[in-house]
Amino acid sequence: MKFSEIEYVQLDFEVIKEQYINLIKELKETKTCEEALNVVSKINALDTEFSSYGTLASIRNSIDTSNEKYEKAQEFFDEVSPQYQDLATNYYRVLISLPFKDELKEKLGDLLFNQIDLSLKTFKPEIIEDLIEENKLSTEYSKLIASAKIEFDGKVLNLSQMAPYGESLDRNVRREANLARGKWFYDHMNEFDEIYDKMVKVRTRMAKKLGYENYVQLGFDKLGRTDYTPADVKNYREQIKETLVPIAQELLAKQIKRIGVENPLPYDYNLNFLSGNAKPIGTTQEKIENAKKMYDELSSETYSFFRFLKENELMDLETKPNKQGGGYCTYIPKFKMPFIFSNFNGTSGDVDVLTHEFGHSFQVYSSKDIPIPEYIWPTMEACEIHSMSMEFFAYPWMNLFFGNDEEKYKYAHLKGAITFVPYGACVDEFQTYVYENYDATPKQRREKWLELHKQYEPHLRFDELEYYKEGLRWFAQAHIFNSPFYYIDYTLAQVCAFQFKNMMDVDKEKAWDTYVKLCKLGGSKSFLNLLKEVGLENPFIDGCIAKVMKP
Ligand code: ZN
Repeated sequence: MKFSEIEYVQLDFEVIKEQYINLIKELKETKTCEEALNVVSKINALDTEFSSYGTLASIRNSIDTSNEKYEKAQEFFDEVSPQYQDLATNYYRVLISLPFKDELKEKLGDLLFNQIDLSLKTFKPEIIEDLIEENKLSTEYSKLIASAKIEFDGKVLNLSQMAPYGESLDRNVRREANLARGKWFYDHMNEFDEIYDKMVKVRTRMAKKLGYENYVQLGFDKLGRTDYTPADVKNYREQIKETLVPIAQELLAKQIKRIGVENPLPYDYNLNFLSGNAKPIGTTQEKIENAKKMYDELSSETYSFFRFLKENELMDLETKPNKQGGGYCTYIPKFKMPFIFSNFNGTSGDVDVLTHEFGHSFQVYSSKDIPIPEYIWPTMEACEIHSMSMEFFAYPWMNLFFGNDEEKYKYAHLKGAITFVPYGACVDEFQTYVYENYDATPKQRREKWLELHKQYEPHLRFDELEYYKEGLRWFAQAHIFNSPFYYIDYTLAQVCAFQFKNMMDVDKEKAWDTYVKLCKLGGSKSFLNLLKEVGLENPFIDGCIAKVMKP
């Protein structure tokens, strides 16, 4: 079935609720492991129905935020999801209290039960109203970002359409674009501050109701992190400060020398080469054709999968008015369909989507037949290994997308991957501060951001950029608003993706087989156990980053 042919069915939540309650009752009365597994699979089917239409609503709403039908559908799911979560919690509670729990564990795996323990810790009906408020605030943030209309270059542009100007060869254009963008954020500073402040308050309130000291550990538990703690992440950030920050600074200093700028300002770091950044060639259609050629040649697995995506319209790539910002990959379990969403803007980021989001979709498709739905996706830090490693697997085909700029692309991509890690750790430390100091004022938060900046990105100076001196650069980082504590996952995955890069530079075939194996494991194991299973090094161990960076 093509994506456009999928009919959106408006679910009746009262019906779903009744069915769910009856199934939970049925589960409670089961006498054997077999009987219980039978009910579990019925619950899984109901869950597939609910989450599939929720995902469909969210995809179509993100493609056109002005479409009222899907705006309403999104509101419906924002409203009922917390109640649905309450039902799921009741189900889990019954499942782990069955007398033959150990037998079930053997069939379903320990991880599911560990995840259930976490989800029970992170949810109580008392927080339903708070979760609804949190969802609404997230939607408010996304709408605010999507509403950006910046007058520039004689046009009215959204944030994504502003990006190419930030890479202009003309320093003045870079500067003006940066100022126009900064002014928009500055003009909406109160709105951003207010949304975020409400988010911090509501999240802290939930943490307290659930018996946590603050939102930090709750955030970790909600992400299903079963094998590392905030203290491990703190130690890992120290590894980054010691090992990666100096390497990143060296690369950035080289860049500034290369583009011949004195007294560099943040917008100068967007330009990698004096002859211009590597620009992808061709239209969106041509890029998709090139991606097809690349995946045809990469492996038999990617050959058939890319065709599947293309033939079923499972990619919405072009930027359009009223389209939500950013890019993502999601999955509609009922139709076993991944979906890729992005905003092409003519920069090399377009190609990153065709590799990065493709990597996500390839993983979820590889593990779609795992019968336990909780195991289809792994936790986020593992998910990003699939996507970020695919960016490296794609290197040999970059001539298709960049022609003579191929080498420039690869250099800038690898440089970007390295310099990203300190930024990612900065975002993480910022959030840790925010939720540990939940009474801080918006102004104090922005000041903290500037302070952390100096540790992780000491090259950045804001001299003449009045707007940025307010410490508002993170307003554009959606994860800080919508997915607390997720961001460090990208850096953990990047350290693992570097390991794949090192591996493929030595033995391409082994690297690809290892990658496919990892994708097929889906979420059947925890992050560190997945790494162990395929022989990747644990980034939390002191010295890991230095070892990985050596090659
Ligand atoms: Zn990703």
